[in-house]
Amino acid sequence: MKERMAFSFEVFPPKTDAGMEKLAGKGGVLEKLYSLRPDYISCTYGAGGGNAGRNLEVLDSIKAAGAAVPVTHFTCIGNTKPGIKEQLQAYLDHGIDHMLALRGDLPFGWTGTGGDFRYATELVKFTRAQFGDKFTIAVAGSPEGHISCRSIDADISFLKQKQDEGADYIMTQLCWDMDQFRWWLDAIRAAGVTMPVDVGIMPALDARATINMALSRNGCVMPRELSVLISRYWTFPDPFTADAEAKGSKSDAEYDQKKAAFREAGIEYTIKLIDEYRVAGIDGIHLYALNKYDDVARIVKDSGIKDIID
Ligand code: FAD
Repeated sequence: MKERMAFSFEVFPPKTDAGMEKLAGKGGVLEKLYSLRPDYISCTYGAGGGNAGRNLEVLDSIKAAGAAVPVTHFTCIGNTKPGIKEQLQAYLDHGIDHMLALRGDLPFGWTGTGGDFRYATELVKFTRAQFGDKFTIAVAGSPEGHISCRSIDADISFLKQKQDEGADYIMTQLCWDMDQFRWWLDAIRAAGVTMPVDVGIMPALDARATINMALSRNGCVMPRELSVLISRYWTFPDPFTADAEAKGSKSDAEYDQKKAAFREAGIEYTIKLIDEYRVAGIDGIHLYALNKYDDVARIVKDSGIKDIID
């Protein structure tokens, strides 16, 4: 990031062996993603460590390929200090020394992390105290304010605290509201946050996933342009079910056509969003690849990100 804008992908650990093969097997999605030459690929970590084993399996495969730096996400949820120390040591033993230090999304019904740490700041501090400079540490930033922050000022002050505890760079939560993003970037700089900002972008490929990501956990503002796309290609009466009966009078073909039309429009929308981010003074683009290749590759090539790397 010191030399040029970074570019990276995020994948998640599949739940099944078949999914794992599709992602990390020969000729799988990861192999194809390497051909786009990302600087790093991060892998999510299920809150509570439910799929932690698979997370390490995915990262091992990225490490073994040697084509991109593997970055693990790591959360405080349900983790004690000895458990965290042990898991982080295991990552180091596997040659994985980049992490995104998170509190984690609280599982529904939980009021706390159920572990020794309440906030990501504590995880950053602990990691530095235990492992010195062995890890490069990224932390989350929320341009619209974290959904449960008491105020955006408080949220920014905790981001500064993450930097003071030793974090290296920021990976942002998705944000489609560019006015808000630009405001936030100025605000964190004014607050003394000098860490590079690596912007998280979720490609708008599916209306249901887009609505879900915006509203289920993050409370994101959806700009008019994106809302219009969702309305225009709405799969009546209920985009949240693939059940034939719920499609009402629409035939399968009509339903599929609308989904495909949304994907096309969503790819164009995502490319324009990347343009806006690139002129906003950021240090990296982190694409949530959603374990897909074709659409993601189109976005990388058509947006011109690929040319920066080549
Ligand atoms: P924190 O920085 O700890 O903040 C959590 C809340 O507490 C905020 O509202 C903050 O304002 C407040 N707060 C912080 N410090 C204090 C304090 N000292 N006193 C009072 N309030 C405080 N989740 C997963 O479970 N697995 C993943 O793999 C994952 N990947 C992600 C990848 C990216 C790029 C991003 C941006 C998020 C990811 N998340 C993931 C989601 C993340 O775990 C959630 O957003 C979580 O709810 C907050 O994590 P955080 O690290 O921002 O928490």
